[in-house]
Amino acid sequence: MSIDTVRDVVAWLKDFPTDRVTFTFHGGEPLLAGAGFYREALPLLTEGLHDLNPEFAMQTNLWRMTSEIAQILAEYHVPIGSSIDGPETITDSQRGTGYFEKTMRGYDIAKAHGLNVRFICTFTNKSVKHRQEIFDFFLKNGYTLKLHPALPSLRSENPKQWALPPEEYGELLVYLLDKSLEHIQDIDVMNINDLCRCVFTRRGTVCTYVDCMGSTFAVGPDGSIYPCYRFVGMPEWVMAHVRDRPTREALMQSESGKRMVAFSAYVDVACKDCSHIKYCRGGCPYNAIAPSGGSLDGVDPHCTAYKRIFNELNERMNKEMFEAPIMEMTPYPSKPRKSAKPGVMALMRKLVSR
Ligand code: SF4
Ligand code: SF4
Repeated sequence: MSIDTVRDVVAWLKDFPTDRVTFTFHGGEPLLAGAGFYREALPLLTEGLHDLNPEFAMQTNLWRMTSEIAQILAEYHVPIGSSIDGPETITDSQRGTGYFEKTMRGYDIAKAHGLNVRFICTFTNKSVKHRQEIFDFFLKNGYTLKLHPALPSLRSENPKQWALPPEEYGELLVYLLDKSLEHIQDIDVMNINDLCRCVFTRRGTVCTYVDCMGSTFAVGPDGSIYPCYRFVGMPEWVMAHVRDRPTREALMQSESGKRMVAFSAYVDVACKDCSHIKYCRGGCPYNAIAPSGGSLDGVDPHCTAYKRIFNELNERMNKEMFEAPIMEMTPYPSKPRKSAKPGVMALMRKLVSR
C-alpha cells in the first residue's frame, strides 16, 4: 500500500460516524512494506484520526522483523499476532521447513523491543492428533494460545487436505477448555476466554459471534474497500475505493455490502430455534458465504463445533451456579466447599478481575 493510499484512508475516515478505530496491518506480509512505510503511516493515522483514538495491531510471520521496525512498532504500542502451530516439527510439517526458526528469530527481536507477541496456532486434521503436545508446548513456553481451525482452502485443488472437520473442532474446544481450567493461572487460551465471555454476557464479544457487517472493513493495497481482510483480493467483494470516501450507508448499499446484510437476515431465520443465536449470530459470514460466492446456502460450517462448546459452557455454568453452596444464616455459616479443580465460573472471575 502506498502512503498516498494511507492519506486517502485518513481523509475517508475523518468524518466516519464512529468514536474509535483499530487498524490491523495484514498481508501478504506487512513487514515487506519496510520501516519507512511505518515511520510515515503510523503518525499519519495517529495524528490525522486523533479524534477516533486509533489503535493498531499487526499480523505477520515475523521473518522480516528488524530492530528498526520493532522500535517504530513499539513506539505506537502495536501488538503482534504471528503463527506457529506448536513445536518446530509440527509447525514446519504444516508450513514448510525453516518456518519455525525464521519466525522465532523475529520473535526474539520483537520481544527485545518490548513488543507484545501472541501466536495463532492453526489446528489441522493432522496436527489435532498431537493436541496434547501442542498445548504443552504453549504452556511450557508461557505463550498465549489462540486457536485457528483449518478451513477448506478456496484456492487449492485439494481443498480438504488440511481442513479440521467441525466435529473434531468442537471436541478440540472442549479439550482446550479443560486444559485451560487445569492450568488456569498459567496460560490463556484466547478462544476459550472469548467463548466464556460470550456465554456469560449473552452477547458476542469477538467478530465471529457478532453481526460484523458495517463495523469492520478492510482496505486492500490499491485502496479497494472490502467487508473484512479475509475478502481482500476477491474482486467480487470490493465495496468501493477509499479515494471516493464512501459513507457507511454507501458501502452497505454496494452488492458486496448487501450480501453481508442478507446473511444477517438469513441467520435470523436459519438459526431462530438455536438457543445460542444471541451470542453466535450464525458465526463468521466469510466462512458461510465466501465459498459460495455470496449465496445463502447455510451458516458458518463450524456450527457443529460452536454448538458443542456453547452447550458445554452453558451446562457447566448452570451446574456450577445451581450447585454452588448456600451460606446458612447461623452463627457458624457453612463454608463453601472447595472444588477439586477450577470451573468455568473461576475462569470468568479471572477474566473479570483483569
Ligand atoms: S467476516 Fe468473519 S473474520 Fe471477517 S470480521 Fe466478520 S466474523 Fe470476523
Ligand atoms: S450454533 Fe449454529 S445454529 Fe446456533 S446460532 Fe450458531 S451457527 Fe446458528
